[in-house]
Amino acid sequence: MTAQQITQLNQDFAQATAQEILHYCCEHYGQSIVFSTSLGVEDQMLTHIIASDKMPIEFITLDTGRLFPETYSLMERTREKYTIQINIYFPDAGHVETMVNAKGINLFYESIESRKLCCHIRKIEPLQRALKGKTCWVTGLRGGQSEHRADMQIFDWDDEYGLLKVNPLIKLTEEDVWSFVRSHHVPYNKLHDKNFKSIGCCPCTRAVNEGEDARAGRWWWEDAGHKECGLHER
Ligand code: SF4
Repeated sequence: MTAQQITQLNQDFAQATAQEILHYCCEHYGQSIVFSTSLGVEDQMLTHIIASDKMPIEFITLDTGRLFPETYSLMERTREKYTIQINIYFPDAGHVETMVNAKGINLFYESIESRKLCCHIRKIEPLQRALKGKTCWVTGLRGGQSEHRADMQIFDWDDEYGLLKVNPLIKLTEEDVWSFVRSHHVPYNKLHDKNFKSIGCCPCTRAVNEGEDARAGRWWWEDAGHKECGLHER
């Protein structure tokens, strides 16, 4: 897809709802669409829309082995409520063993390199497998989550994976998402009620303070400029 076509799509769908954007993807990408959910509130909104309209989109999630118990509970509640299959991708056991035996179980606190190694093995490698052969990748990214995401578009070409990346909620506010989730009784992670805005792995996530951006609670010991795990690098 050319840059011009992407620009045109972003213009055409500038005022569209998430539902309309997803239906467009289903019409054009058929059985080759994958939605990666981390069970955060934005992802839960998309799950509700996709499942309610029975869209032919595959649900995938990454189980790093270090998630919160609340996240696993939500995974089950979501699967049961919407009667959907969520395909879970795990890290390669041999790679985890080698890393942990060489650098320790909590290596991520030691340096950015170690943290990125852990994210690579526990998240990026499994994501690469999940996206293999797909032509369209749907995410729950929202522009207001961080400075890094602020200028992202609804449609983007992902060079790394060679597919169309679609962010149907990118222009929504946090209030828009919560309003949808509450009015549609969408299940959400109980940690959100304790000021956890962006929820990843347990040892790398904390609650945020009033006025902090949603990603401030991720890898809080690092500088703000490093707060991506590589899943959504640009
Ligand atoms: S968020 Fe933390 S525990 Fe999870 S994969 Fe990255 S470094 Fe490892």
